[in-house]
Amino acid sequence: MPSDRLPYLTAKLQGFGTTIFAEMSALAVATASVNLGQGFPDTDGPREVADAAVAAIRGGPNQYPPGPGILDLRTAIAEHQARFWGIELDPETEVLVTAGATEAVAATLLALLEVGDEVIVFEPYYDSYAACIALAGARRRVVTLRPPDYAFSLEQLRAAITPKTKLLLLNSPHNPTGKVFTRDELTAIAALCVEHDLVAVTDEVYEHLVYDGEHIPIATMPGMRERTVTISSAGKTFSMTGWKTGWACAPAPLVEAVRTVKQFVTYVHGAPFQHAAAAGLRLPDEYFSSLAGELAAKRDLLASGLADAGFTVYPPSGTYFVTADIRPFGETDGMAFCRSLPERCGVVAVPTVVFYDDVEAGSPLVRFTFCKRREVLEEAVVRLKSLEK
Ligand code: PMP
Ligand code: GLN
Repeated sequence: MPSDRLPYLTAKLQGFGTTIFAEMSALAVATASVNLGQGFPDTDGPREVADAAVAAIRGGPNQYPPGPGILDLRTAIAEHQARFWGIELDPETEVLVTAGATEAVAATLLALLEVGDEVIVFEPYYDSYAACIALAGARRRVVTLRPPDYAFSLEQLRAAITPKTKLLLLNSPHNPTGKVFTRDELTAIAALCVEHDLVAVTDEVYEHLVYDGEHIPIATMPGMRERTVTISSAGKTFSMTGWKTGWACAPAPLVEAVRTVKQFVTYVHGAPFQHAAAAGLRLPDEYFSSLAGELAAKRDLLASGLADAGFTVYPPSGTYFVTADIRPFGETDGMAFCRSLPERCGVVAVPTVVFYDDVEAGSPLVRFTFCKRREVLEEAVVRLKSLEK
């Protein structure tokens, strides 16, 4: 053992231990709690999408797909972007299939960032963003979203941009807050990207889970098409989070840069799931709207249950997460709260402080997911109502 080299993890990754999602899911299993922590549905997605995967496995070939992804899926992604968002893409050069949105984010950041570059990111930020920025040797500059509506200060955003800023990382609809960035906000962000010649990397995995307002891809704002990498995946839209099929859409030179990294990370992945994702993306409009309709009802159930249990609740406009403030319970430490919640009432949530640099801003906030069956949510609410104040 070269013990003098311990710890093995490089300095740039210190602090990035086990993800909060893995920790909290393990806690849920160990304590047999209702798991409203990690965001994964407890029922699978559409039968016809699963059937397409089975047919692709049975029919083969089950060999390496092409590096950029099978052309049928790239075509389906381009059709989807045109159908829902009016974005026209060349499937040959402007679409890349990835191992989930996670790989798309990682490959994009590793491709575009030089050591010492700065990245603007809104906090709370999804955990993999901070890790990938660190892996790239870059630095995050954080702009805080503040409840009740998780608005940000344009002045803080402007001040965060320096001559070293290379890109802005956006996530809308936003995990964990459920915020859906408004047209006015996106207009202001886009104007700053154009003014400072920044690349926008936008994570839109919750694009179809919007209940209030509308999802607007930032690539559609003036001057943004040529400087935006739009990322999404099949995980949330088709309730198949374990399939890990995602994509990045951008002008050809950006896609080529991302593909260069992707080919040395996973090379390619999951041929049968690529066929299935293509089938999913071609489902009729009603599929997408009914998914959001069902989740909106679950949002209302959980948000009102949490309010009845005594939390201050910030109902989300999108995603399948709701954040709540624990201060009405006389507590301010969300991490301690979430670690003790299974013992106190048999429910697991995620402390959102782990997604903040500003610990004070994030500390009293916890996140619950509502992508579970109604009876599971109802049971969780009963348990949460037993919490002592
Ligand atoms: N981005 C956000 C904001 C997420 O919540 C998630 C969680 N699934 C991902 C990316 C990862 O997506 P995928 O599973 O497709 O890699
Ligand atoms: N995106 C999921 C969530 O936010 C978790 C995915 C993961 O565990 N990496 O809960």
